[in-house]
Amino acid sequence: MAGALDRRQLMGLDDSHLVTLPDGNLLQSAVAQAFFALQTAAHEAGFELAIASSFRSFSRQLAIWNGKASGARPVYDDEGGTVPMAQLSARDKLHAILRFSAIPGTSRHHWGTDLDVFDAAVMPRGYQLQLSPQEVAPGGLFDPLHCWLDERMAAGESHGFYRPYADDRGGVAAERWHLSYAPLSTDCAQRCDAAMLATCWHGDEVGDGLLLREEIEADLAGILKRYVEVPEGWCPSGTGL
Ligand SMILES: [Zn+2]
Repeated sequence: MAGALDRRQLMGLDDSHLVTLPDGNLLQSAVAQAFFALQTAAHEAGFELAIASSFRSFSRQLAIWNGKASGARPVYDDEGGTVPMAQLSARDKLHAILRFSAIPGTSRHHWGTDLDVFDAAVMPRGYQLQLSPQEVAPGGLFDPLHCWLDERMAAGESHGFYRPYADDRGGVAAERWHLSYAPLSTDCAQRCDAAMLATCWHGDEVGDGLLLREEIEADLAGILKRYVEVPEGWCPSGTGL
């Protein structure tokens, strides 16, 4: 197993420890091996388990974040409507973005352990993948895949993949499509702390700067608790994790 990630790797500033999959996605090597095993099992069950998003760099997350904070990118609410960002206070803007997007440096997608998946076998021709709540809800396009994944997880046969955002707990919205390789991501989660983030956000790596930074830092502990930490029981303990 690879050693613990260093600060730059945890923040998505360095991807040299990752391997490139045939479809172009980047993951840690052990995660890729486990994913291939899960993919094979899914194939045997009639699904084409595919990756919509895997590793995401700090700079990519910064572009998404600043785009939403500046109004250049739309921010959606729970019903899929557009949030009128220009009318909101800085604090309300911050929480509207955090519902669906992570602050650069805090994304689980920085680690090479987490990925968003879908079933390529049921995609209608020309269908634009959305990763929306509707797609994964009962009766939705990808519900059968996720029911199968739920069964594998319950049986301890999901090759180490579990759901950190299975439920809506009032922070990040439920993301049934987001899987995390628990044997490596639990360590990453424990090592990301406020001091590490502050070093990053005040360093050269943010270029022109992180928008809403003062608002973030005014309530960093609260934000980390509500939007970054995941509950104790998100993956089974005592299973070699
Ligand atoms: Zn995700």
